[in-house]
Amino acid sequence: MGIIRELSEQLANRIAAGEVVERPASVVKELVENAIDAGATKVDVDLQEAGIRLIKVRDNGHGFHEEDAARAFLRHATSKIRDEHDLFRIRTLGFRGEALASIASVSHVSLKSKRADEDGFEMTLEGGVVTATNPAATNVGTEIAVSQLFFNTPARLKYLKTSATELASITDTLNRLALSHPEIRFTVFHEEKELLRTNGNGDLKQVMLAIYGRQVAAQIVTASSKTNDYMLSAHLVRPEVTRSNKQYVTLILNGRSIKNFALTQSVLEGYHTLLPIGRYPIAVLEVKMDPMLIDVNVHPTKREVRLSKEKELCQLIRETVQLTLREQCLIPSVKQEPKPKHVTPSEQSKLDFSMESQPKQADTLEWNYPIPRERKESLTSPSQWNPAPLVHEPEPEMLQQEQVEEPVRQSERLPALDVIGQLHSSYIICGAEDGMYVMDQHAAQERIKYELFYEQLGRPEKEYQLLLIPLTLEFTQEETLAIEEVLPLLADAGITLEPFGGNTFLVREIPTWYPQHDLEGTIRDLVEMAIQQRSIDIAKYREEVSILMACKRSIKANHPLNMEMMRQLIDDLSRTTSPFTCPHGRPILVKWSTYELEKLFKRVM
Ligand code: ADP
Ligand code: MG
Repeated sequence: MGIIRELSEQLANRIAAGEVVERPASVVKELVENAIDAGATKVDVDLQEAGIRLIKVRDNGHGFHEEDAARAFLRHATSKIRDEHDLFRIRTLGFRGEALASIASVSHVSLKSKRADEDGFEMTLEGGVVTATNPAATNVGTEIAVSQLFFNTPARLKYLKTSATELASITDTLNRLALSHPEIRFTVFHEEKELLRTNGNGDLKQVMLAIYGRQVAAQIVTASSKTNDYMLSAHLVRPEVTRSNKQYVTLILNGRSIKNFALTQSVLEGYHTLLPIGRYPIAVLEVKMDPMLIDVNVHPTKREVRLSKEKELCQLIRETVQLTLREQCLIPSVKQEPKPKHVTPSEQSKLDFSMESQPKQADTLEWNYPIPRERKESLTSPSQWNPAPLVHEPEPEMLQQEQVEEPVRQSERLPALDVIGQLHSSYIICGAEDGMYVMDQHAAQERIKYELFYEQLGRPEKEYQLLLIPLTLEFTQEETLAIEEVLPLLADAGITLEPFGGNTFLVREIPTWYPQHDLEGTIRDLVEMAIQQRSIDIAKYREEVSILMACKRSIKANHPLNMEMMRQLIDDLSRTTSPFTCPHGRPILVKWSTYELEKLFKRVM
């Protein structure tokens, strides 16, 4: 007797569900995408216990024909005509009408639906088996309620993370869907608590406002650009607001949220030196392109997408982001709190030199600047000082869902600064027409040197100086092998390593502008950076080299300067392209406006 048997439909669906329905967020994604495909302009999501107890999605789309309903829960049942070159289809290809069947096989489902010209009905299923169908009074559209998810697959249920993690994953999924569809009105509730509400007016900024809050939304700058193959529209949150991971960079390709490492990386490179190390921006980038340029050969359940002209798009993104941000002024300013509040010493040290534009829980950036504590206190001793960015912050009542304030744009020019003096051999105090500025001398010099070195590195002809005694450098075997590969990168940075037997190399000459002290250390750093970044392009390497050298060569804090030197520094700084942040993303200037000073002295109210 043979032992091979055909699997029952239910069992086959349950096995398929293992691939399609990984966690509650996957169910949410499939149901909401179906609603969008049904032409909905309004989608309401209700959740209980992070979706495990209940996921209910209601839409005002075209609805089901009653006779189609049972069929829709069979595997490979679909009403959608597929074109495999369309991105939307690529994503659903793997499901091929499997989503509803898979979801139903591992849960209890209740479907209520009505088409405009037909009667409404209700259908219930348990583990994929229809248990009842009845007429029902309901509005045009569809409501699908999925309850007791994974009730018959205990292993899957056990594998779920904590409900906080599952809910976070659902929220991320829904945020991305909302960002991809500003024209759809979304509401999301978890156990009666509202998680998201968008107004569906088609304005992406409004969706960002709904997701990230008004303080973030007030910092959005927009840009658009295109090449022959791509159209890009970018919504960038200015770098005063950052996050601790890359998840807040959203890529939307032809109306679908996607994942792509190289494109995300290009966004980060565009922000680059404006962000502190280890911090990431909030940004939404929409790309429109010919679907033919999308590589279809990618696992369909993943959001990961590959493009055939990816480099071109990366460059477009990097340059657009960089240019847009460069046009913005980035001076943080010190603003007085309306009501003095008590600040503990530990809070005080956090407030100093921070540019927090919003409350703590909003995960804004903190500038951890290494200044000895006593100095910090003397600089910002009035405890009611509360530093805040210079951007105009709209009054709460001015900013409803319907409008988002444009941040005040400023040209990236230094105001005319008169040097008053130096504080603690580290800060330059300046007067200007509109108030008082304090400049961090080390950060200022880093910016100046950085731009200088970057420019020098970009020159095709470099001026070299011969070393009196060639430098002998010994590397490990592993490094020696890797060095072969990075010789062009090193040559671009002006370093020629001449093999000298074994793992030893000679350096005979260096560019004239190289830092003189700790030459060996500098060259070792350059080699190490080159090895680490083998695959990275020359422009990126140049930037890294410039940052490294600028830091090495800049005057440190704790260095007395005379008036002449301070004026020179300001003059040099005013010639840079980004005079407000150092290459590591820290602020160079902090401002107290005349008004704020007068307020402090109670001359104005
Ligand atoms: P697919 O979306 O790949 O076609 P699904 O299993 O997700 O497969 O859905 C099966 C079919 O059920 C769809 O092709 C569509 O005809 C119908 N359907 C699903 N959800 C809805 C909805 N919210 N409104 C109207 N029709 C729907
Ligand atoms: Mg579907």
